[in-house]
Amino acid sequence: TLSSSFDNAYYLNRQSHFESNARSYPRKFPISIKSAQGVWLTDVEGKSYLDCLAGAGTLALGHNHPNVVNAIKSVLDSQLPLHTLDLTTPLKDQFSQTVLNLLPGHPDEWRLQFCGPTGADANEAAFKLAKTVTGQATIISFTGGYHGMTNGTLSTTGNLGAKNPIQGLMPYVQFMPYPYSYRCPLGLGGELGAEALANLFERFLDDVESGVTKPAAVILEAIQGEGGVIPAPTSWLKRIREVTERLGIILILDEVQAGIGRSGQFFAFEESGIVPDMIVMSKAIGGGLPMSLVAYRSNLDVWQPGAHTGTFRGNQLAMATGLATLEMINQHGVLEHVNVVGNLLKSGLVKLQKKYACIGEVRGRGLMLGIEIVDTQGAADKLGSLPYAPELAVNLQKACFNLGLVAERGGRHGAVLRFLPPLIISHHEVEQVLQKLDQALMMVCQ
Ligand code: PLP
Repeated sequence: TLSSSFDNAYYLNRQSHFESNARSYPRKFPISIKSAQGVWLTDVEGKSYLDCLAGAGTLALGHNHPNVVNAIKSVLDSQLPLHTLDLTTPLKDQFSQTVLNLLPGHPDEWRLQFCGPTGADANEAAFKLAKTVTGQATIISFTGGYHGMTNGTLSTTGNLGAKNPIQGLMPYVQFMPYPYSYRCPLGLGGELGAEALANLFERFLDDVESGVTKPAAVILEAIQGEGGVIPAPTSWLKRIREVTERLGIILILDEVQAGIGRSGQFFAFEESGIVPDMIVMSKAIGGGLPMSLVAYRSNLDVWQPGAHTGTFRGNQLAMATGLATLEMINQHGVLEHVNVVGNLLKSGLVKLQKKYACIGEVRGRGLMLGIEIVDTQGAADKLGSLPYAPELAVNLQKACFNLGLVAERGGRHGAVLRFLPPLIISHHEVEQVLQKLDQALMMVCQ
């Protein structure tokens, strides 16, 4: 039988052929899931887990939401084709119109490009379109950013660990420091650090502009997800938009993880009031099924028919589940709910931070939250930030898991425990997350 203890079950899991992911041992969840409903998973032994990973934010409405299940059934029960490639269907039209209506400004200001099933597919398409429009090659990305695992997106992923052994990455990629205030690369932090980093960005781009290679695009996440749940300060985002606009450089907002309501607004960049040139969507936009797309400003519409293709663009089932998800978000107060329960979870995490010194910082917005685990024995840096404590974070994640709470790690050295529960998590379930985490912290961090 499968053991529900993390260590034994991992051993068993590793022997199977399903475990081909390169992520290291403590990041895996070695259970076999028999059923799932809402925020809950049940394994083959009948043990329940509160799922604060939710397919890395994919399951906005939780597991097996009736509207999502019915959407799949209605496609199957109707005579709709499962796939049409370039031919449209009423469902495709309705889905596209719904997405266009959610974009900033007027729907006519935007075009949609359906991509393959993954976020990486859509980021690749965004790079390709930006390069076509500008005739330039360089993509500017940020330290700690995550944009995917294909060659081009990995090249722009600012996590050196993930790409160290890989040769032949996409050339013409430049990294700039992201405003990670808790560990500010300039040793400043807060608004001062954000301003200094925006100045650095501006000077760098001005220099590049006066040289031979003007960048094609800048790509960033308004809240870094895999990078450790790091929201970019509003002032910094506004400056990045001003500078890119002034220099005519395309700004791509990767909303694959933070978008579709997770931050408490439909897109995470909305908090700052900026409007990017391209918005990349995946994960929750397909309501739990694989789909990705890029929304781009209509003035960038230079592609001739056939310039960008791919067999599995815009799958019908994923459009049906995506539409069900968008309708819930639009019509049933999901964003308000995310803000209320998100604040409840965040204030609970802040209370735990006061109780346990190993929580260095609580970060995030809405239901995209993280706690940075630190080494309390280490010497603090200039900002008073303690060293990373990756092993402690692993042990905390394991303790949570054994108590029936699934949360993912991320961030530099994997020292950030991340909470991305389904957006429909209830007040009571948030309390249960906090109770389990409190118990785990008591076991590991005292
Ligand atoms: N962009 C962001 C912000 C992500 O978080 C991810 C995945 O976690 C991706 C892109 C890549 O998406 P995919 O894994 O579907 O290729």
